[in-house]
Amino acid sequence: MISKGIKDVSVLEAIKKIPRHLFLDSSFEDHAYQDKAFPIGAEQTISQPYTVAFQTELLAVKPKDKILEIGTGSGYQTAVLLTLNARVYTIERQLELFKSTSLFFKKMGYRPKKHSFGDGYLGMPAEAPFDSIVVTAGAPFVPKPLLQQLKIGGRLVIPVGSDEQIMTLYTRKSEKEFEKNELGSFRFVPLLEDKN
Ligand code: SAH
Repeated sequence: MISKGIKDVSVLEAIKKIPRHLFLDSSFEDHAYQDKAFPIGAEQTISQPYTVAFQTELLAVKPKDKILEIGTGSGYQTAVLLTLNARVYTIERQLELFKSTSLFFKKMGYRPKKHSFGDGYLGMPAEAPFDSIVVTAGAPFVPKPLLQQLKIGGRLVIPVGSDEQIMTLYTRKSEKEFEKNELGSFRFVPLLEDKN
């Protein structure tokens, strides 16, 4: 992964510490340490470690940072953020995954501040503002509530696009100003709208 350009040592260390095979369906366990995405049920995938590392590096996590994750999925990205000592709030909109990952967090002793079942397009207004927000599914557009829920200086990392996504970093410069950086293309499962 170093060769792919991930430089943040704390991110690489966190990824090394996490037993990725435990986050996968048992039928894929043998492949857990390949740098690939895999199914986690409900037609969703655990992102490939490189993608998780890339997004995490962009978040520039400091201990105690208050971070919102959209798309809990298997809980792998959540675990990386918790290992970096962030305070993590995470939202999943598929009930089946929400339930299974909730049990998994308990079993493993991973303790996000909040793990909710709901629609990530809305963010988590009751807990805002956040130091950073990470969206782990492909967003057809940038949901306004997510930008509004950032602290000044806060960062939103979001893959934007339909078939393919451009990894986009928004940094909140002031109440109304955001800096935007585009950082290469990726492929995510879609950030689902409505209830389907
Ligand atoms: N962070 C996850 C990635 C899972 S893939 C991991 O490390 O495993 C993306 C996840 O986003 C899926 O679990 C999917 O169900 C969820 N998702 C899709 N649309 C969503 C929405 N509108 N709100 C919240 N979560 C959503």
